[in-house]
Amino acid sequence: NKLPRGDLGLIGLAVMGQNLILNAADHGYTVVAYNRTTSKVDHFLANEAKGKSIIGAHSIKELVDNLKRPRRVMLLVKAGKPVDDFIDQLLPYLEEGDIIIDGGNSHFPDTNRRYDELKGKGILFVGSGVSGGEEGARTGPSLMPGGHPEAWPHIKDIFQDIAAKSDGEPCCDWVGEAGAGHYVKMVHNGIEYGDMQLICEAYDLMKRVGKFTDKEIGDVFTQWNKGVLDSFLIEITKDILYYNDPTDGKPLVEKILDTAGQKGTGKWTAVNALDLGMPVTLIGEAVFSRCLSALKEERVAASKVLVGPTVEDGASPITDRKKFVDDLEQALYASKIISYAQGFMLMNEAAKEYGWKLNNAGIALMWRGGCIIRSVFLGEITAAYRENPELENLLFHPFFNKAITKAQSGWRASIAKAVEYGVPAPAFSTALAFYDGLRSARLPANLLQAQRDYFGAHTFQVLPGQENDLLKKGEWI
Ligand code: NAP
Repeated sequence: NKLPRGDLGLIGLAVMGQNLILNAADHGYTVVAYNRTTSKVDHFLANEAKGKSIIGAHSIKELVDNLKRPRRVMLLVKAGKPVDDFIDQLLPYLEEGDIIIDGGNSHFPDTNRRYDELKGKGILFVGSGVSGGEEGARTGPSLMPGGHPEAWPHIKDIFQDIAAKSDGEPCCDWVGEAGAGHYVKMVHNGIEYGDMQLICEAYDLMKRVGKFTDKEIGDVFTQWNKGVLDSFLIEITKDILYYNDPTDGKPLVEKILDTAGQKGTGKWTAVNALDLGMPVTLIGEAVFSRCLSALKEERVAASKVLVGPTVEDGASPITDRKKFVDDLEQALYASKIISYAQGFMLMNEAAKEYGWKLNNAGIALMWRGGCIIRSVFLGEITAAYRENPELENLLFHPFFNKAITKAQSGWRASIAKAVEYGVPAPAFSTALAFYDGLRSARLPANLLQAQRDYFGAHTFQVLPGQENDLLKKGEWI
């Protein structure tokens, strides 16, 4: 009897699965590959996997038989029912202490449910966020594993070896119990929605108010990518703006229909923020902005009948272009700080609500490299949480407090320009409204409480020192 050689079993030979297998093989691991449509196993073995430490399996039994104990089986298949189906197929062949890892984009309540079901059967279940797209999977993704903590020592080496590195540190750490890994991946995707919307608003203002050409906007992003905004998304935006359609030499981006698609992870984040009562306004606006963009026909009709300020064709009303660009950079930076502060507020609340212990510095480090929102900025967040793991709010850390204070005049000026010229800047604006709300010791919710009590006898609390008999009885109107 030959001893099994496989370090990791991987089910799902679409682009993510294949690339992750090749990545693990490059790091010296032997991977056993299986796919529902088994012809893909043969094709993979004969081509990309040829000559590498990769074993093909044509059945679940063959996959499991080829794995060392405890067996580690990773699923990279379409999220939803296929994950449950494969878990059901694996169970008859697995033993207590074996590990199933779901690396797909599963919704965290599903991961919570699978975690509970498998716990009862002695199987260690891990739900892991995987970010960075197909290239990340091949060269080093950001990995966000959570689930049964006993699984972590058995998968730590493989995961940290294949993950992206930031200053030598792996962009992968244990996130927390049950669905915590998929939860953090969901918030990552929500933040990605926000970052993209902020970049689009800066582009729109440069284009519609500044009358910049795409090449000039590309130059601005090139410049920004050397400063505090240095990030993957700014970098690819510059590439996109520089790209001209070879058939006529005109910017390709201007030929793309302006209706945004979405797969739902941003919406999940916004819905969860509403469920937990957390004001994650920027991600919410980013999701709604995609929704508004999708109402193309209605917008075209409205553009002919709804009146408001517009910038006429021809010269830009902006006289000081440098200040305009510098202000926009500050608006983008400040709004981004708000978005991440909101994201961490949400995760802190989720940790309380769901009973997880999340490591904020570790999360920022996992996002620092490999994934779509990777940026220099996340290095600053990692440092802030390392310095003070109990930090109540990112905005209270001296680095971010100072940065947002400095950015403030440019931030307000950019929004004022957007308002003056009738260009929507929902993410910039909601970020500033949140900031002004957070720094208001008193908000008009006193009046709101009075209204609620007037029509619904909901009662209200009275400010300290203002109590009297009338207010005590609540017979005030
Ligand atoms: P995908 O298109 O989401 O899924 C294809 C894989 O799922 C194939 O192996 C396919 O098997 C299998 N599959 C589909 N329906 C099935 C069913 N009903 N029963 C059994 N197997 C089924 O592949 P992907 O783009 O590589 O993504 C894999 C996972 O990673 C997904 O959850 C995705 O959301 C997540 N993800 C993707 C990216 C990305 O950039 N693509 C990034 C991060 C995370 P057959 O070959 O037999 O059809």
